[in-house]
Parts: sequence; structure tokens; C-alpha cells
Amino acid sequence: MSVRVVARIRPLLDGEHDKDIIVHADSTEAGKPNTIVKIPSPKNGAEEFSFAFNSVYDQSTSQEALYTAEVQPLLKSLFQGLDVTLFAYGVTGTGKTHTMRGGLKLADRGVIPRLLSGVFRRGKKIAKDTDGGTSVVVALSYYEIYNDKVFDLLEPPEQRTPMGLPLRAEAGGRTVVCGLTERRCDDLRDFETLYIEANSNRVTAATRLNAHSSRSHAVLRVKVTQTRGDDGSVRESTVSAIDLAGSEDNRRTDNGKERLVESAAINKSLFVLSQCIDAIARGDRRVPYRESKMTRILSLGQNKGITVMILNLAPLRSYHLDTLSSLNVSSRAKRI
Ligand code: ADP
Ligand code: MG
Repeated sequence: MSVRVVARIRPLLDGEHDKDIIVHADSTEAGKPNTIVKIPSPKNGAEEFSFAFNSVYDQSTSQEALYTAEVQPLLKSLFQGLDVTLFAYGVTGTGKTHTMRGGLKLADRGVIPRLLSGVFRRGKKIAKDTDGGTSVVVALSYYEIYNDKVFDLLEPPEQRTPMGLPLRAEAGGRTVVCGLTERRCDDLRDFETLYIEANSNRVTAATRLNAHSSRSHAVLRVKVTQTRGDDGSVRESTVSAIDLAGSEDNRRTDNGKERLVESAAINKSLFVLSQCIDAIARGDRRVPYRESKMTRILSLGQNKGITVMILNLAPLRSYHLDTLSSLNVSSRAKRI
């Protein structure tokens, strides 16, 4: 299992001002790529904290550049049979959904549609190179984890049971979601139709709660099955792309009962996730993945595979404390 933690600082939006920028990307040596995030101490503005990452992407990084650097290189491993997990982690409003899903314009498309496009292209190439001897089938599931319950996003919201879908431990330590829909997709257009519909299910189910989507984890799971015609051998691997719940401390801003339940569930699962990533990064044998549903389902640390965590950051002073806490939590980020 290998893990990378990278940070991405979003640009200013309309109505935000240069003078409020407090977060900067930096490199260890002039001319080297950025690997450090700098932020002032909230107590003493003259003191500065630095956090180190595998890579740091600044305001000017395009969707294409991020995909090309961090995600495209994983396609090869995926087709070699390794599982890939991609997380977007950060405070609400820092660009997680922009990074994962992105906008509708081609240049704005996020990691997920680009990844699917890459998977289909590679699948077609393998089929062609083997003269159709190897078939490649792509199937999707898409669900959200809200208050530690799993809801299928490929089913209409009316069919949700309030209890959510149960989990089942399989032999070998894997955990599966029982009754999750899996839909085959043959090309990017198939995928986009399904993805748009599923995202609207997420929104529809949210009318009861404000900002529901920032309080749930959305998990897209793409299963790639390669079957060889000659000996019938099958190779199966998955890539999971996750838009995590906002990492802000909801308790600070809202003390309604429902929010408290949500906050406890969100904070616990994000905390366990960071501990798992830490343990994997250190090469520990014991990874505490059993301690939340999200980490159980992803079997984090159980499989051979590659994990990339993208820490999304807003550069502004108004996010100061939450930014510091997400920098602290995001595992490998070391104070130096
Ligand atoms: P989150 O999902 O973390 O709550 P969003 O992805 O919704 O945050 O981003 C908040 C706002 O910032 C959105 O309007 C989004 O379009 C914009 N945004 C985020 N990242 C970028 C970026 N890299 N370039 C341009 N706009 C961005
Ligand atoms: Mg979002």
C-alpha cells in the first residue's frame, strides 16, 4: 500500500481580496517544485508554520495539470490489478467538489470525468491490442455515507431505507455494502448520464437539510474487470474517488441536535481516515480501518493499492483555524 498526500490551494473567487490571502505554496529550494504550505500562526502573525506534502499545487493549477500529475499515472497500476483510492479532504468551500467533479465546461472537468475517460480509452486500447482477446468491462457504483449510514445514489431517493444499506464482512477481511447497485458503463457518455442523474439524487435527498452534501461523504467506485479470452483468467481492480464531508468544526458554528449528531459522525470518520493514512504512510502493520464505516468499506490499508489524498485549501484569513486544523490532520503534513 502506498500513500501520497498533496495539497491544492484554490484561487480567489469573486468578492475575495488579495489582501486577505494568508496561505502560500513554497518549495524547499529555488527552482524545485512546491512541497510546502505556509500559514501564519493565529496567535502571533509574525510567526509562520510550514507543512510539508508530497506536492503542493497553487492557485494557478488547472484541472488538467492536476489530473495529469496526480491521477493519470495511476491508470497503469489500476489495469495491472491494483486498487486506487482518491480522496478530496478539506473545509467546505475549499474546492473538493471542484477538484473531484468539476464544472461542465471541458477545461473545468474534474478528476472523476477525466479518470473515466482515461479508463475507457485504456480499456479500448487493451481490447484492440489483443485483437479482442481481452474484454474490459467497467461498472460503477455510487453512494454516500451520511451519519455513518450508506445510501445508494444510483437508486431514486424514494427507495432509500432510513437505516441505510448494511455492510458485510467477507472472507479475507474485505467489507462490502449489501444491495449496492452496480451499473455497467461502456463509454464516457454512458457515464455522464449516470453521474448527472446520481448527483441529482444526492441533491434531492438533501432538501430536508441545508448543505447536506457538505456533511456526507460521496464515494464513486469504478470496477474494471479484464477477462482474457485464451485462458479465461479474470483480473479485477477498482478505483474509488471520494468527495469527503467538510472537515470544518461544525460544533463551533452550530449546536442544533441534528448537527451535533452529524458532527460527531463526520469528525470521527475523518479522524479515523487520517489515522489510517498515517499508519499506512509509516508502514505500520496495524491500520485502524475498522473504526469507521467509511474506512471499513474502503478496506483502507487492507489491500495492495495506492491512495492519494488531496487536501483542498482556501487561501483566506476567514478560514484560518479550520485550515490549520486540516493541515494538522492531513497525516503526512509535518510541522517543520
Ligand atoms: P467544497 O466542495 O470543498 O465545499 P467547492 O468545490 O464547491 O468546495 O468550491 C467552492 C467554490 O470555489 C465553487 O464555486 C468552485 O467553483 C470554486 N472553486 C474551487 N476550486 C476552484 C479552482 N481550482 N478554480 C476555480 N474555482 C474553484
Ligand atoms: Mg462540495
